[in-house]
Amino acid sequence: MPLTAKAVLSNTDIRSALQQAWTDSNPGLNSGHEEGGFVVRDSDGSLSVRRWQRGLQDTIQVPPHRNCVFDGLEIVASFHTHPNTGSDYLQEPSETDKRAVRDDLDLKGDEYIGEFVISQAVIYLVSPAGQVREMDDTEVVFGT
Ligand SMILES: [Zn+2]
Repeated sequence: MPLTAKAVLSNTDIRSALQQAWTDSNPGLNSGHEEGGFVVRDSDGSLSVRRWQRGLQDTIQVPPHRNCVFDGLEIVASFHTHPNTGSDYLQEPSETDKRAVRDDLDLKGDEYIGEFVISQAVIYLVSPAGQVREMDDTEVVFGT
């Protein structure tokens, strides 16, 4: 059965991996850099995270992921952080973020639920069709 975004977010291993990425992105007024990664399904069915190389202040490079597979494992979600909280920075997913997910033919696997965008206040989900919805408060998910 395909996973829901809510199920992925409530997986404790995934939660702590996302929180680690958030911490690593050094959130603050303007000193942060983006971090991100794929949530993949391991051969035993469990979920884990494969991190991307660190990004810049407001952009991050996604490594190749042909046919929605990375490291030989099915990609079920992707994520990146928006760590800069200053007013020059967009907290919600940008038009570029939405287009990047929507137009990526290698992010259209049967299992793929979308890309989480983690901001200080809210965790968003960009669906494979490029639609944005708010998933939850970041502090609720991270329990801080
Ligand atoms: Zn973004």
